[in-house]
Amino acid sequence: MTSLDFSSLPISPEQLEALDGAGFTKMTPVQAESLPLILERKDVIIQAQTGSGKTAAFGIGLLNHLNPRFFGVQALVMCPTRELAEQVSQSIRQLASRMSNIKTVLLCGGKPFGPQRDSLRHGAHIVVGTPGRIEDHLQRGNLELKGVKTFVLDEADRMLDMGFAQVMADITARLPKNRQTLLLSATFPEDIKKVSRSIQLNPLQIRVEEPARREKQIVEQLFFEVQKHERDRCLLALFEHYRPRNAMVFCNTKQQCAEVARFLRTHDIEAAAIHGDLDQRERDQVLLQFANDSCPVLVASDVAARGLDIPLLEMVVNYELPRDADTYVHRIGRTGRAGESGQAFSLVTPPEAPRMRVVEEYLSTNCICDVLSSLDRDPNYQLQGSRVTLQFDAGRKQKIRPGDLLGALTGDAGLSGGQIGKITIAETSSYVAIDRLALRQAMNYLANGKVKGRAIRARRLKAQQ
Ligand code: AMP
Repeated sequence: MTSLDFSSLPISPEQLEALDGAGFTKMTPVQAESLPLILERKDVIIQAQTGSGKTAAFGIGLLNHLNPRFFGVQALVMCPTRELAEQVSQSIRQLASRMSNIKTVLLCGGKPFGPQRDSLRHGAHIVVGTPGRIEDHLQRGNLELKGVKTFVLDEADRMLDMGFAQVMADITARLPKNRQTLLLSATFPEDIKKVSRSIQLNPLQIRVEEPARREKQIVEQLFFEVQKHERDRCLLALFEHYRPRNAMVFCNTKQQCAEVARFLRTHDIEAAAIHGDLDQRERDQVLLQFANDSCPVLVASDVAARGLDIPLLEMVVNYELPRDADTYVHRIGRTGRAGESGQAFSLVTPPEAPRMRVVEEYLSTNCICDVLSSLDRDPNYQLQGSRVTLQFDAGRKQKIRPGDLLGALTGDAGLSGGQIGKITIAETSSYVAIDRLALRQAMNYLANGKVKGRAIRARRLKAQQ
């Protein structure tokens, strides 16, 4: 049997540390199957969906093949949309956070050319982007692909659906022949096979089960029949009984989201609401704190939660049942991701009972109902994030890299590597998750200490919104 430990792979200690910092303890099935081949530099077709851990699979692979001392493009990742490209570049930066001086440049449409060109001129190891913009830079002579060792086509089927076939072919023609090509696609129809034949050499194919099928098997679903006034009590009882490390609570309106988050906070459960009234920056900060273990509970409406890449949830609660079964399946699909099991609970008031029937019909199974009195209560229950987030007033624009913050906190401030979690560099600010218990030590240093030779203001970002 293959080991699921990342340490069984021939990867560097820095990579293992970054994986640990991201909270990835075991390989997902797609990683376990593909990484040994990727690390041997084979061409691989990975048939997998979002949520399978595919980004980290190719991210680890391409980082492992880089020569950090050569400041030319050595890995090119092409994605169909800007949103996906942004997510992918974030994941790669996270995976590279313990390596020094690895530069990733994002080339997407809708952003000015100048800064992208300048970043390329300063030397980039990894380029992540959308086909149109990558081609534009090639035509303008800003981008040199002769040194590419790893080429990744992410969501290739969507790329074809969006009419990028020709651009993809043109870009591929500019790559060196002696390279590794990884092709990722949720489906594998004839036209994708044709693309693979034209760009890959003796590819090996890996296929993992669709998340939708997996969710049905491993997400435990329970319905609680409650009166309207019992909803809050039942929600609290679910936390006290199941004691999840993190959770997402869904409501149907933004006002309800804000009220439920407030209610949880008054009962010592650190929760933040995400709703349409937050501006983009506040929204990003809430999500960042949720993803880096500083805020364990997110209360969201479906609109606000759309398209979010939420990591490994242990519990999802439908504070109110949604009106259609699709939304229900989508909500509970956020737990039990990446091969982990999860629990989904729904509070159902008598007028909502018909919605439960719709779900039963859709899933062709009987919903299992339970009662509030079956849950064990705990008057001393508390839920806090294991980490807190430090916000620094300097970001990519000020040329801050993850290694600068890591260096200041582990070097001069005296924290250990294990006390530091996710590091996120935004345009003009940066965020570092650190152990809650190390907060005082870090703040004492940062009150007068320096990052990269400069005094940079830092504060604790509060989870409450
Ligand atoms: P992807 O399929 O790349 O969209 O990844 C889905 C989610 O799984 C992302 O939120 C990743 O952060 C997370 N993830 C990837 N690999 C692992 C792992 N080995 N353990 C836990 N979570 C993971």
